[in-house]
Amino acid sequence: MSNSRPLPLLSFEPGSLPPIRGRSDNDYDADDDGDRPGNPRRWYHYVPLCIVVLLLLAPHPSIFHVLLNYHYLTLRAPLYFVVHLLIIYAFSFLAFSSLIACVARDPGPVPEAKSEDPHDVGGSSGGGGGEISIEDALLSTAPPSDDYLQPGRWCRICWKPKPERAHHCSQCGRCVLKMDHHCPWLGAKCIGFRTYPSFLHFLASVTFLAAYVSVVCIRGLVFAFSKPLAINELTPVHMLLLSFAGCAFTLVMGSFLGYHVYLVLTNQTTLEHISPFYLLNHLPPLPPSRLSSPPQERQLAYPQRRAVRAAHSRLRLYDVGWRRNTAQVFGSGTGLGPKRCWFAAWAARLLWGGNSCGSGTQFPRNSHAEDVLVELAAELVRLENNTDRS
Ligand SMILES: [Zn+2]
Ligand SMILES: [Zn+2]
Repeated sequence: MSNSRPLPLLSFEPGSLPPIRGRSDNDYDADDDGDRPGNPRRWYHYVPLCIVVLLLLAPHPSIFHVLLNYHYLTLRAPLYFVVHLLIIYAFSFLAFSSLIACVARDPGPVPEAKSEDPHDVGGSSGGGGGEISIEDALLSTAPPSDDYLQPGRWCRICWKPKPERAHHCSQCGRCVLKMDHHCPWLGAKCIGFRTYPSFLHFLASVTFLAAYVSVVCIRGLVFAFSKPLAINELTPVHMLLLSFAGCAFTLVMGSFLGYHVYLVLTNQTTLEHISPFYLLNHLPPLPPSRLSSPPQERQLAYPQRRAVRAAHSRLRLYDVGWRRNTAQVFGSGTGLGPKRCWFAAWAARLLWGGNSCGSGTQFPRNSHAEDVLVELAAELVRLENNTDRS
């Protein structure tokens, strides 16, 4: 470890300094691959993104062929032709605008730990190049501005603060604020605090685009089967392919969208939803026993694991009601500056999904969270004592 590297206060405790490559069982987002800060991206990481762009662009010649031959030449309905064309191109534009936002924006840079107060233990521990002496740390009475000494609040790979709900992505080699998941399809980047609204916007735009094209083409197919001689013979083939692809995309992207709408309404990230053991990092201190405080996943026996899963099923740690949960994701600003204007905010939401609310480092908790966590801690200790006696 180099002397120039800023140290967390945790390192003052002899023997407690973890190895850089070490891994806590509760760091469910980290693995042993690619855990170097700032993994470089290779050309092949962009291949899935090119496939996504190709899938979005490829149907357009067929769509134009269907609209031209069916609505304009066969039905002689130029108004329908123009309206369908505008709606389809509008959805395509919205899909591309949010795709660009997802690819171009940083998903959630973790701010450096700063401290304006030289006695601020928590802030001084993390950055700005300031290290504090043990004496200063022990004499300090000021509460830390952000307690990076709590379990899981310091990234052992980036060696930086890890705010609440931030996670280390092993693929990107960095921590991301409110990381939802790593998406190989959108430029091999994480979906995090700053890109999650755009990701939802992209899912919604593609789902509605696919559904709209399906409906238009299925209606055209019905007409083609009833009056086969009234329409160009190639047009039903285009309609059939577009209907099939549209239905498939509607089902796949629509179910993905539905899942993420559920996550937004309950204020969960994908990682938090699929990983019940993240709750262990939020438990109150446990009495001395075989379990560490907080306990590690590998220390838990089967009944204790079952207790954690049961608590996870009834506790959504950050759920503060669906209105506030939704407001947290879609926020009120444009993300382009400090000024807030309702028109610009709504334009941003419409065009690329807008911007999440707040700084992305602190989140209000469910009012029942502490009770459930205390119950879970007591249950784990009780089960541990039962195991010791038996
Ligand atoms: Zn990290
Ligand atoms: Zn990532």
